[in-house]
Parts: sequence; structure tokens; C-alpha cells
Amino acid sequence: MKILIGIIAVIIFIVIVINLKKSIEKNKRGEAERAQKEEEDRKIKAEEEKKRLEDLKHDRIINCPKCNGNGEFILVHQIQWMGDDRVYNTRSIHDKPDAWELDGKTEGDGKSWQTKYKREDCFFCGGKGIAYAYFEKQNRKCTQCNGEGVLISKTKIKKDIGNEEQTKKTKCEKCNGTGNNEIGIVHVKTLKKGLIGGYYSDDDEDIKYQLENSDKFDILLSENEFYSSSKPRFK
Ligand SMILES: [Zn+2]
Ligand SMILES: [Zn+2]
Repeated sequence: MKILIGIIAVIIFIVIVINLKKSIEKNKRGEAERAQKEEEDRKIKAEEEKKRLEDLKHDRIINCPKCNGNGEFILVHQIQWMGDDRVYNTRSIHDKPDAWELDGKTEGDGKSWQTKYKREDCFFCGGKGIAYAYFEKQNRKCTQCNGEGVLISKTKIKKDIGNEEQTKKTKCEKCNGTGNNEIGIVHVKTLKKGLIGGYYSDDDEDIKYQLENSDKFDILLSENEFYSSSKPRFK
């Protein structure tokens, strides 16, 4: 009897130990899952914060560079026939056309085509005519002297007999001998991810566009003077 009780006690003890072990493992697993979830949440939050700070950097408002602030695109849809082939072409123009729709085919050069114009809100600003931006000065290697600061020219000097090659070094005027040029850059962030290009589908009414992946791009300030006129985004 005592032996039986002893055996039962041992079995109960073993069962308790196994269950305890299982429960510890389960807790550990739960903790690992929690830690993983927390880590994922932290990463998402960090990414959101990075985006928020990146957005705040764009502290100026400029005219939307894609529509020059007009808020609209004038799209030219053109269908071209070359024999049996049809070519669809859509592009945007800034000048308003004389007539919005030119019906009927135009013939010439062995081709015929039909043109339609359509006014649409600018894909990049949704018609608001603005974009956000920040301006930055960057030092870039001088392209004139390849960053050397000097320009090297070689000339041949005629001697009594033969000639001699002379190397002349002159200071690069473009970078004033520094090898670097400071350039102004406008970092632009449009209100929307824009749509560009496009094509007519076989059904004329069904106009489709391709998505441009980015709502951000840079513009050299020197090439577009009017971007220097901007106003603050945050009061
Ligand atoms: Zn626009
Ligand atoms: Zn230079």
C-alpha cells in the first residue's frame, strides 16, 4: 500500500512538473510574440514619424511646377491612323486650344488623325495649383574644371629648332578656383502622386493614365527663377 501511494505521489509530481514546464514555455512563447508585436508597432511608428518630419521639412508653398500654378492640364488626345494601325497618344499642353474638340479626321502625309482636347484638374495638385517645397544650397563639384579649380591648356611654342610644349594653368572662373559650385535646389513635394502620360483604350471614352510613382522631385533653382517666390506653409 505504501509503495502504491509512493508511486502515485511520484506520478502526480511528474505530471505537475510537466505541466509547469509547459506553462512556462507557453508564457515564454507569449512573451516572444508580444515582443515581436511591440517591435513591429515601434517600426511602424518610427516610419510614420520619419514621414511626418520629412513632410514638415517642406515648409514653403510654391506654384505647382507641373501645371505652373494653373491647377489644370489641357490634355491633347490624338488618334492616328496609319493604314490599318491606330496609334493613341495623350499629352498635356499649357496653351488653351482654339476649339475644344476637332471632329473629323485630318489627312496628310499618308496619315490621318483626330484630335480632341480636354481640360482636367492637374494630377499633381488636384487643381489647387500649389506644391510644398524646401530650398537647399548644395556644394557640387565644378563641372568646368572637374573640381580641380584650375584649367590646364597646352600650347606649342616654336623654337629655332623644333618646338616646345608649354602647359599653362589658369584659375577656373566658374568656381573661382575653389573646385566647387554652390547651387540652389528646390525639393518639391506635390499634394498627390501625379498621373502622367496615358493612352486611349479602344473605347474612346475610356481614357487611362499611367501612374507616376513619386510625388517628390528636385528642381535646380537656377533653371527656374520663379521658384524663389514662395510663401511660408506654416504660420
Ligand atoms: Zn498642379
Ligand atoms: Zn571650376
